Order: sequence, then structure tokens, then C-alpha cells
Amino acid sequence: MIFGAYKTVAISSSAMVLAAWLLFHHVDAVALCVWLCGGLIIAVLRIVAIYLASRAVADTPKFTFHCKLYAGTILLAGAHWGAITLLWHSDMATGAQIQLLLFPVSLAAGSIASYGVWTPAFFAFMVPCLLPVLGLFLFASADGYSGTVAPALLYMVGLGVLAKQYQRSLIETLTLQIENKNLVNDLSDQNAELEAAIQQAQCASKAKGEFLATMSHEIRTPMNGVLGMTELMLDTDLNTTQKHYAKTIKKSAKTLLSIINEVLDFSKIESGKIELESIEFDPKATVTQVVSLLQSNAMNKNLKLNVTLEGDVPGLVIGDPLRLQQVLINLIGNAIKFTHEGGVDVLVSTCDGSSEGQHITLRFKVQDTGIGIPADKLDKIFDEFSQADGSTTRSYGGTGLGLAIARRLAELMNGRLTVDSSPGNGSCFTLDAQFSTEATRTIDHKATGEKTAETHFNGEHVLLAEDCMINQEVAATMLEALDLQVTTVSNGSEAVQAMASCIETDGQPFALVLMDCHMPVMDGYDATREIRQLSDKRASEVPIIAVTANAMSGDRDRCLEVGMSDYISKPIDKPELIQAISTALNRFDSDSAMQRAA
Ligand code: ADP
Repeated sequence: MIFGAYKTVAISSSAMVLAAWLLFHHVDAVALCVWLCGGLIIAVLRIVAIYLASRAVADTPKFTFHCKLYAGTILLAGAHWGAITLLWHSDMATGAQIQLLLFPVSLAAGSIASYGVWTPAFFAFMVPCLLPVLGLFLFASADGYSGTVAPALLYMVGLGVLAKQYQRSLIETLTLQIENKNLVNDLSDQNAELEAAIQQAQCASKAKGEFLATMSHEIRTPMNGVLGMTELMLDTDLNTTQKHYAKTIKKSAKTLLSIINEVLDFSKIESGKIELESIEFDPKATVTQVVSLLQSNAMNKNLKLNVTLEGDVPGLVIGDPLRLQQVLINLIGNAIKFTHEGGVDVLVSTCDGSSEGQHITLRFKVQDTGIGIPADKLDKIFDEFSQADGSTTRSYGGTGLGLAIARRLAELMNGRLTVDSSPGNGSCFTLDAQFSTEATRTIDHKATGEKTAETHFNGEHVLLAEDCMINQEVAATMLEALDLQVTTVSNGSEAVQAMASCIETDGQPFALVLMDCHMPVMDGYDATREIRQLSDKRASEVPIIAVTANAMSGDRDRCLEVGMSDYISKPIDKPELIQAISTALNRFDSDSAMQRAA
């Protein structure tokens, strides 16, 4: 705005010089000089008035005063242009008269652009500028201007209307610009808020992940003691009552562990950290294993648990048998849980037209004659922590997480999990899951339930690195029962020393190291790295099995990355431990332990 006002003064001053140059030969030179100087003085006054108005704070009396001062200088400028008509028109020849009149007329028209935004300023300029022209038309009709008064008046009124319109459209444009700017500001504020919210959510998710990892570790460590000691106790001479108590402890501990596992699984799926395996397995064998596992539960409730495997189901597919098992255990387990009479039928078949190239979709149907599910709850049961009936937890137990996990796993298997049910008529859960039929990887010993060949190891010497005294006792007792000779250390640093000194004193390295990951002084990861750096090849290539309460996604990979050969999670599962030891010892004889890790 300010620069616009200065520009107007500059244009008006240039027009003044141009007019002086054109009039120079037609009018008195002294009078012209006086007019020009007067005009320049007015221009300076206008500049001062603009400057003062620009310095004053808006809406203050000082500002109003300076605006009025500015309007006064505009009035002077208008009168200055009007003066040329009064002063020189009558003395000039007809052609030059027209030239002269063009100045006030065109400047009045041009003032719409300069002052139209502020109507008082526009009239302050236009009226004194054109009034002499109007007077001329009115009183000098003898000069041939008769009949031009009305158009001249119309011209002035037209200019006034145009100025008003210009002002209105300018205000609209400015309002739009301001609104636009406000919108942009609002949007960038919202963007900033969104970014902050995303950052907060990411921090919260990271904190949740860390919390779960810590909780998982902290719960698994004592659970290893509870389950391990119970297992050891069950191997001793107990009377019937004691045996019953010990078995109940074991069962309760396992239930607790499965709840922890469900919560962990769900959080892994939620954060997209779960990845399915791709290994060869027999789907029929997987279903049969699950059914035989749950057969005793069904028998305890006098329920029939039948399985039908249709002929076209292939004997070998590639997928994740453990995750398939997990979904089936949930579905069949629920069917038994929510059925009081009748039974549960499991049917395995192929989906119609399911064989696409190297993929096949298998259908697993679990049909029960149980309590059923109301129609309005059919969708909700797949939501996390959700049960069909609020009293289900009290009557049947459960966390309401099983089906949420099962549905997500079905989706990860490029399939889906659906249900058809009504109260009193039982339920039918259908799992469709896609598997590959092209062999890509070797059979996983754990997944296929390969037999744990050796359960006794001829007194081989193993090193156990474990800081928790109770877990030391559990693991050492389990290992000794397997006919292994155990040396126990309490941290990673002691493990490295034991490894090094073992060769110096005995000339014979340990056959195997069982390494906890979280230990004081030096953790299992650093200890593994140092052992792998030892100069004696027999020591640096010793198989190292991680035995850790870190059971979150990525923990296994982290162990393998630092050079460990295998990984088992706490609480220690005895068959899994035996399997890992057998594999490690056999491999070590024939192959490099590092190869195994790769
Ligand atoms: P949980 O069984 O641990 O509560 P799930 O997610 O496995 O959690 O099941 C959610 C709910 O779905 C159950 O609490 C139950 O209300 C309902 N439900 C699941 N399976 C059945 C079934 N076969 N018959 C009746 N209700 C079922």
C-alpha cells in the first residue's frame, strides 16, 4: 500500500513534467514554471504525509490525523491539475485546448486505480481536478462546448461509480487473500499438529514395544524357574498327592505362559513384525498332531473329536506349520471349550479351483455342537480382547485375543477366517489358507516334529553362562540328567575366560556353550563375539546356543548375527533343548558351527 502511494506520487510528478513540456510553447513560461514548482512542492508534501501515516499505529488518533493530512495533499494535487484549465485554456488555440483538457480528464480517470481503494481520497482528487473543466463547459458555451456539460457531469458520476466498484472488488480480493493466508496458516498449524501426533504415536509404539520386550523377559526368567523346577520335581520320587500338586503347578504355569505368548504375538502382528516361515511340511500330519494334542480335553468333557482328511489334500506343501498349528489349536480348543455335549468335527479339504500355478488353498473346517454365537457378536469376536458374552471370561476363561490373532495369521497366509453360527446350533469356523507347492527349503526339524534322537550325551563337557541362580540350577540339573558335564559361570566375561583357560589347562575345549543373553559385567552377545575372536580354532568355533528370555521378534536373528549357532527361548522346553544340543554336537563334528549359524 505504502509503495503504491509513493508510486502514485512518482507517476503524477512525471505527468506534471510531461504537461509542462507540451505546454511550454503555448503558455507564459514564468507562470508554467510557478505551476511546475507548486506541483513539485505538493509532491514533496504528499511524500511526507505518506511517510507519517505509514509510521503511525493504525486506528489511533495520530493515524487518523495523518490520513486526513494525506487526503489534504491529494486535494491540493487535484486542485493543482484543475488549475491548468483555469489558467491557460482561454489563451490557447483550439487544438492545443483539447491537448490541455486531456490532462485533467485522463488523470481523473487514472485516479480510480490510485485512490479508488479509499473513496474520500478519490473524490478529493477528482472533484477539484475536473470542476474547472465542468465550469468551462457550463460558462463558456460560446467556445463551442455547448451541450457538453451533461456528458461531462455524467463522466464525473461514472468515474465515481467506477471508483466505488473498484473499491468493492479490491476489498473482496483482499478479503479472499486474507482468508487464503489464514487457511494456509491453519493448514500448516494442522500439519504441525499432525506431525507432532505422529511422532507421539511413534514414541508410544516404541515405548510399548520396549515395555513388552522387558515384561516378556522379566516374566519368562522366573517362569523358567517355576516350570524348570516343577519339571525336575516331577522326575523325583513323589507320592500321588505331591505329583498332583506338581502337575497342577506345571499346568497353571503353562497357561500363564500361553497368555504371555498371546499378548506378545498380538503385539508382534500389530507392529507388522511377524513374518511367516516357508518350509515344507505335511498339512495332514499337522492337523492330526493338533487333534491328538487336544483329544484328551475332548475326552474329559465326553465329547467326540473327529477328523476327516479328504483325499485331494497334498502330502507336502510349503508354508508355516507352526502358525497353522497355532490357528487350529485356537479353533479346535475353542470348539471343545464352548461345547458341552455332542462333539467337534474337523474337516480338511482343498478349496474349489484353488490350485493356481504353484499355490494351493486348503480349507480347514471346525464344526461344533456347542453354545453358538449370537448374530450381532459374530464380527466382534474377531476384535482383540473381545468375547461374545461379557460373562465368558468368568465361565470359560480366555483373553479374547485368540481369534484376533488367528484372523490376522489367516490373512498373512493369503487366506481368511470366517464363522457361521447361531445360539444353540453350534458354530462352524472356516479357515482358508494358501500354501506353495514348490519345494524351496529344507524341512525344519522343529516344525515337523522330527524325533529327538539322542537324550544322553556321553559325559561331554558343556559351559553354562547364566546369571540367575535358580535358572542356573534348573539348566544344570537338566543338562546333568542328559549325561552332560556342566561348568557354570555367571556372566559373559567369565564365559570367555573359561573358554580360554579350558584349552590352556585341559587342552580340550568345551563341546558346547549355553549362553544367556542378558547378564551383568558382559552380556551374551559380547561374550559370543569375543569367543569367536579367540586364537584357538577349537575354542572360537564352539557351538553356542542362546538360552534366553528374550522372545520378541528379531531376538533370534540378533543372536545368529553375533555368531551364535542356535536359539531357544525360556522357559526351557526340554525336548527343544535336547534337539538343539543334539543338532549342535552332531554339526560340530562334521561341519563348522559358523556355517550352521548362517
Ligand atoms: P478366548 O477364547 O480366549 O476368549 P477367542 O478370541 O479365541 O478368545 O474367542 C473370542 C470369543 O469368541 C470367545 O470368548 C467366545 O465368546 C467366542 N467363541 C469363539 N469360538 C467359539 C465357539 N466355537 N463357540 C462359541 N463361541 C465361541
